[in-house]
Amino acid sequence: MAETPEYQPLAAVAGFAVDRAVAELVERAEGPAGFAQVPPYRGASYTRKMPRPVPALRAALLVRHVAQGKAQDAIRAARAAGTSWAELADTLGVDGGEAAYRVAVGPDDGWAWYQRQDVYWRCSACAELVTDSGPYEAHPANNETGHADGCARHLVEIAAYQATWDEL
Ligand SMILES: [Zn+2]
Repeated sequence: MAETPEYQPLAAVAGFAVDRAVAELVERAEGPAGFAQVPPYRGASYTRKMPRPVPALRAALLVRHVAQGKAQDAIRAARAAGTSWAELADTLGVDGGEAAYRVAVGPDDGWAWYQRQDVYWRCSACAELVTDSGPYEAHPANNETGHADGCARHLVEIAAYQATWDEL
């Protein structure tokens, strides 16, 4: 009987989920022709049905593209919930809030002339749609526009900013 480990490394859990997604995408795109019977390891006495390499590549690239979009959605949701760019930098594995913002905006793929370099999210405090221009300016009101007049969250951020000036 197969052992079911109570704990699997998270990367392994993700790997199994992506394998399933890739197999399903290949099945939908190619049908049975997208698969081959291959030995699971060199010298194996049996074969397993595996996606062919090129359809598997196509599917893996689609999974990567979709995951990237979901990561960017999650960044916006975290900003909406009040997580700062500096806090997101830790999770994203980048150095500082500005680097986190660049991850959210995405790479300059040559289409930047029409791309607005802003991130949008709905404020958890005032429920207005906020345009977030990144952590480049010191004053919060210069980074985020769209909060309702008197938004408690925005006022707290402005007060915290002003407090750093009072300390000088
Ligand atoms: Zn607000």
